[in-house]
Amino acid sequence: MASLAEVKAFRGEEREWEDRSWFPPGPQLAVCLSGDKNRLADLSDAELCERMAAARRQASWAQAQELAAIAELAARRHAQDEHHDPDYRVLSARESLLEEVSVALAVTGNAAATLVHLAERLTHQLPGTQEALQAGRIDLAKARAISDATDHLPDSLCARVEDTVLDGVEERTTGQLRGKIKRLVRRLAPAELEEQTRKTVKGRRLELWESGHGAAGLALIDIPADDATAVHNKLTAVAHGLKQDGDARLIDQIRADLALQLLRGIPLPEALHAPPVDAEPPASTPAVPDTSEEIGDSVAEMVGHAAQRRLEELRAHVEFHGRLADLPRLAARTVQDLHERLAPLRDTTCGHGKPGYRPPAALRRQIEARHATCVFPTCNRRSEHCDIDHTTPYGTRGTTCGCNLAPLCRRHHRTKQTTRTNETTGWRLFQPWPGVLIWITPAGTWHITLPSRQ
Ligand SMILES: [Zn+2]
Ligand SMILES: [Zn+2]
Repeated sequence: MASLAEVKAFRGEEREWEDRSWFPPGPQLAVCLSGDKNRLADLSDAELCERMAAARRQASWAQAQELAAIAELAARRHAQDEHHDPDYRVLSARESLLEEVSVALAVTGNAAATLVHLAERLTHQLPGTQEALQAGRIDLAKARAISDATDHLPDSLCARVEDTVLDGVEERTTGQLRGKIKRLVRRLAPAELEEQTRKTVKGRRLELWESGHGAAGLALIDIPADDATAVHNKLTAVAHGLKQDGDARLIDQIRADLALQLLRGIPLPEALHAPPVDAEPPASTPAVPDTSEEIGDSVAEMVGHAAQRRLEELRAHVEFHGRLADLPRLAARTVQDLHERLAPLRDTTCGHGKPGYRPPAALRRQIEARHATCVFPTCNRRSEHCDIDHTTPYGTRGTTCGCNLAPLCRRHHRTKQTTRTNETTGWRLFQPWPGVLIWITPAGTWHITLPSRQ
């Protein structure tokens, strides 16, 4: 087979992407890629393929930068973890780091944990993989596949596997990489593979996620492969049986319906005759507009914007004077100041003074309606399943009132508690206006949560 270069020589044309097809990623390639988008129409099919590959190399390079930044922040927080307070009410520096990454990238806590783990593995155990990502030889998905497949292996074996798998890595898909690593480990260290399986299965779980439009996903994760295959084979066999008896559903649909019936505790013979789960349009309840609440929300939005502006001014000021380390303290002071300046206005719009620590049921419902989820920026926990937290602790200056209450899940309740033990590196939470929650992270960045009422 002729090489790409020979084909090009034969074609004998001047192609725009010809010399750039194996350009290493970095600033220069970014310049090549940032040409006029409309000119894509002028490129040949082959050039388009080269361009997409070049764009992916550039993305891999950027992913390597992202992971390196995460690994650096992780190393700093680890240094702090040595002085970790074993108080169960507060987060360890490690847990706090995951929350910081979660808000910085607007990803879920789980996604942040996965990224931090990958960043640390590339830095400490898989330097070759990190290099390959940085050079655009592999993309993030492949880096993750290598990291996952070598997790729990002893360092020396991990290095050996990495060496072998990186040879010719450009040509392989993630699935091929996983297969190659598995075969390698089985050959080099069969006992390790068993150990790896045992450890993976320890993390077995049932996962539930919303997939939109009223549908959801439900999956058994990290269960033994043999069990998973056996269950799948059995469902498939039954589904084919039903299909032969004239069932009009797709095999996939029958399998899903059967699995659902069985998990609901309906025994097999009955489950076979259960009607298919066909989505019916959900009965929509018309939204009742509440004028006073809407006005309250628009004021909340104004306060949020004002806070955002003042904090941005503060950041510019601090950056100009090179005092970035002071940012967390100064940001907290700025928001505290805003809180105090709004006090007279809060007093007139808000009655305050519901006696007692526990909010009455009606007030609790009001708070849950104002924020549908935990008020941590990236948290999706429904407010009905949250604690109703006193933003300023009850008894000191905090009252049990809408202007000082907000839903926080257990985990983010603990995130907020880090302030108590560590004024300088903890998370700070303020509520300068009813429903406007301002978080100051340990790094001194901030995130403003406004009322989420829909
Ligand atoms: Zn109040
Ligand atoms: Zn939360």
